[in-house]
Parts: sequence; structure tokens; C-alpha cells
Amino acid sequence: MTENIRINNPNVKYTDTHIEAQYCYHTSAVRRDGDTLTVTPSVSELEFRTERRVPRLGVMLVGWGGNNGTTVTAAVLANRLGLTWRTKTGEQKANYYGSLFQSSTVCLGPGPDGKEVNIPFRDLLPMVHPNDIVFDGWDISSMDLGSAMERAEVLDWSLQEKLRPHMSCLRPRASIYIPEFIAANQVGRADNILKGTMAEQVEQIRADIQDFRHSSGVEKVIVLWTANTERFCDLTAGVNDTAKNLLAAIQSGGEVSPSTLFAVASILEGCAYINGSPQNTFVPGAIELAVERNVFIAGDDFKSGQTKIKSVLVDFLISAGIKPTSIVSYNHLGNNDGMNLSAPQQFRSKEISKSNVVDDMVNSNPILYRKGEKPDHCVVIKYVPYVGDSKRAMDEYTSEIMMGGTNTIAMHNTCEDSLLASPIILDLVLLTELCQRVCVRPQGSETFQSFHSVLAILSFMCKAPLVPPGAPLVNAYFRQRACIENIMRACLGLPPQNHMHLEHKLQ
Ligand code: NAD
Repeated sequence: MTENIRINNPNVKYTDTHIEAQYCYHTSAVRRDGDTLTVTPSVSELEFRTERRVPRLGVMLVGWGGNNGTTVTAAVLANRLGLTWRTKTGEQKANYYGSLFQSSTVCLGPGPDGKEVNIPFRDLLPMVHPNDIVFDGWDISSMDLGSAMERAEVLDWSLQEKLRPHMSCLRPRASIYIPEFIAANQVGRADNILKGTMAEQVEQIRADIQDFRHSSGVEKVIVLWTANTERFCDLTAGVNDTAKNLLAAIQSGGEVSPSTLFAVASILEGCAYINGSPQNTFVPGAIELAVERNVFIAGDDFKSGQTKIKSVLVDFLISAGIKPTSIVSYNHLGNNDGMNLSAPQQFRSKEISKSNVVDDMVNSNPILYRKGEKPDHCVVIKYVPYVGDSKRAMDEYTSEIMMGGTNTIAMHNTCEDSLLASPIILDLVLLTELCQRVCVRPQGSETFQSFHSVLAILSFMCKAPLVPPGAPLVNAYFRQRACIENIMRACLGLPPQNHMHLEHKLQ
């Protein structure tokens, strides 16, 4: 199902190449004087311009041979080929469930019969279709993607059999391997690694990106890290604090993680770089380099399962006036990611990434929480090989309700981790690509500008969102989703979705 949207408004112009929309942006400034808060609304007139033509998109995955890398590649192939396969419960058809853009809808407004008209999210603006993405990538394991898909144990066997001829001819490029950054237990699969100095390896990654661009004929390349979680990198003045120092450290061989080396190579190639793992790839020098080169970066860590639920549930509780006092999250998983996370330094990266996810919601409610007060929050991850990619998450949310009462919600979540992460990978790259075609002319300015290099609109898909310096960090699920929807509506000159339904509430 695909819908063509046409906006009937003189403020919106469709040229052959662009959608141009005049947009009134409403905000308010708040000032406190003693015990009085003065709120001053303001409106600025912006112009959004969105390029209509979608390019042929190439996506290069770091960690292509892993569970996520093989699953997302297989899922796109299966959808492109329109595959169906037998399972023990019947015939299954390829789909994109779990993708915000492909499988969720947005409401345009009421139709002539008064009923809401909902359309696929992806149809709001011209976007690349995932079926058209061309994949390539790197892995420290040389296994072809057909065998790697089998190693991952994610997809039904009968689907694997149909996909194997298409997957087996795909082979990851050799990658940068610095053993001290990932768990020692990964050494066994590292048989596909680059040699040479750090600077030479970065040059090779750049050459790979150029080679992919030329040999595949894609017009745009986005690079995404879905390789193993690394330990945190030490932040050291003179090494990674500025773009210049970071580039110098790469020349001299200082403390720079493989993921940061990939980020630098991508930025130097003008390719957006997304970090799907928790480590601090974006050291200050990498962020400065992206800003200098006007290249998008985004991360960190896919928000797929437990944290996604947390950002819904805590948002619900606190916005309902209920006070979560303790959040305890256990996970166990048995895939290679779980094995890597069983090492203390890599687990620490994940623990940090998962730890701050309720802060914005807690800080928003000074009725429930004193300044500095937080719920107890504990995250445990255990490696249990038997369960494979089928991750188990057990959470207990204890909250204080009226008059000292206690409310405890316990939940048990079981599902294939990579089938949650794969649609998120697609959403991340498709939204990044769209953002590269949008520019905004602020009121009073002659020139259009693009979004900030730190692409905070991708927060919805990230556990620990990276935002521009000084920008508010939002983890709350529905605010993040509304942000994407409303910015896309702004590109069409449509006001934010307000859910007021006033037309039904008046006499
Ligand atoms: P995986 O272990 O199956 O795959 C990772 C792949 O990366 C492996 O094939 C490994 O050989 C490769 N690799 C390691 N270091 C590399 C390097 N320097 N260069 C190139 N390749 C390298 O793990 P996965 O389940 O696919 O998860 C991938 C990442 O995504 C992990 O860091 C995980 O924490 C993160 N993540 C996953 C989920 C999810 O699956 N639901 C959610 C959030 C974050």
C-alpha cells in the first residue's frame, strides 16, 4: 500500500525538484520572577525545502557478518524477492514489522465521513524504500553471508534455504581489529583483518567506501556500526579532544577505537555515520570533525527491546502522576553479542548506555521527585548460550501510588533480538537519508541550512541519544516519535499533530 500525498495549501509549492513549504514555528519562552512564571509565545516563519528525488542508496555495515548484519540483509532480500516460506504454523510472508516507517501509520486528518485517514509513515515524504537499498560492509570474520546467516540462527530454516544462493555470494571486506576494544572471547572469529598502521587502515576503509560507490553505482553511502560493543575509550586532552588532535592521533597511533576510525573514515568520505552500539565512538574530536565537514552522525545504541519498553512505561507512569521508585532489569541472551557483553568492560559500556534512559522523564516532574532524586535503577545482563538470539528480558517496576500505596509491574519479554534491531537499522538509515534532502531557511535569513551534524531526530531509535551541545536530551518514546512526525509534517507545511479533535468537542 502506497499513498500519494498532495497538500492543498498556497503556502506549499511542488516544483519538479522540491517540496517548498512556508511554516509557522510556534514556541514559548518562560521566565521566572519570584513565584511568577511569565510565558511568552512567539512565532517564526521558516521555509522547509525537501528534495523530491530519492537517490539509489548504499548502506555499508560494520559487523556485516553478525546477527544484525545478516538478518537485516536477509530481510531486505526476502522482501525484495517477495519470498514466502513454510513454518510449522503455516505460510509466512516477508514483511517489515517493527519498522516505524514501513509498518506504522500517521493520521492526516478526518475524511469526508469524519473518520480518520491513516497512511503509512513512509508516505508522508519521498523516502528510499528499503527494498532498494544496496548492502555492503566489513567484518573481522571472513564468513560469507549465507553461512553467517546460518551461524546467527535467527531465521527459519526454510527461509534460509531460499536465501542462501543470494546471500552466499556476499562476503564482508576485511576490517580494523584492535583486540583490546572488544572482548577477548571474539578472537576466534577474527580471520579477516586489515594490516598496516592506523592511518593506513583508515585509508583502506576510505578506499572501500569509494570502491563500493563506484562498483555498485549507488549515489549515496551511509555507514552504520552494528559490530560488537567496544569498551569505552579514554577521553584524553591532546588525543581525541579536537578534530585536529584526533587526526594526528590516528597518524601517530594513539588510543583510537576501531569504531572511531570508521567514523573518521566515513566523515572524511562525506558519508553519514550511525553508531548502533553503546561505546563512546563519538569522542569530542569526532563530533568536531563531523561539524567541520558538515556530515551527519547519530547514535548511540539501537533502542530495540527492554529500553524501548522502559521509555514507554516510565513515560506513562510519570506523566500519569505515578512515581516509579525502583526499576530492575534482567536480561539473558545467548548470541555472540551476549558472549561479547559477558566481558566486564564491554558490559560496562552497555550498562552506561542503559542507565540514563529515564532521566528526562524523572527531571520533568518536580512534584514526584526532589531535585537530584532518582528511582533505583539496576541493569543485569547474563550470557546463557542455550537461548541463542532469543533474548529474555525480565523487568520489575515498583512505583509509589496514592497515600503510600505500592504498585508493582513485572514483565517477561522473549523475542529474537536481531528481528527487533533489523527494522531499526532500516529506519535509522532511511531517516538519515531523508534528512540529507531537507533544508530550512530561518526567518530573516537569505540562506537555507541543513540540520545540525549531530542528527538528534534519530533519538527515537537510539538508547543513548546523541544530541548537539546544549540541546535537550529526550528519551520519552512518544515525544521522540512526535518529533519525527511533526518535523516531517513541517516539511509539508502542516501544523504539529495536536490530537485535540476540537471539532467533536464543541456543541
Ligand atoms: P554479533 O556479535 O552477532 O555481530 C557483530 C559482528 O561484528 C560480528 O560478526 C563480529 O565478527 C563483528 N565485528 C566485531 N568487531 C568488528 C570490527 N572491528 N570490524 C568489523 N566487524 C567487527 O552482534 P549483533 O547481535 O549483531 O549486535 C551487534 C551490535 O548491536 C552489538 O554491539 C549490540 O550490542 C548492538 N545492539 C544490538 C541490539 C539488538 O540486537 N537488539 C540492540 C542494541 C544494540
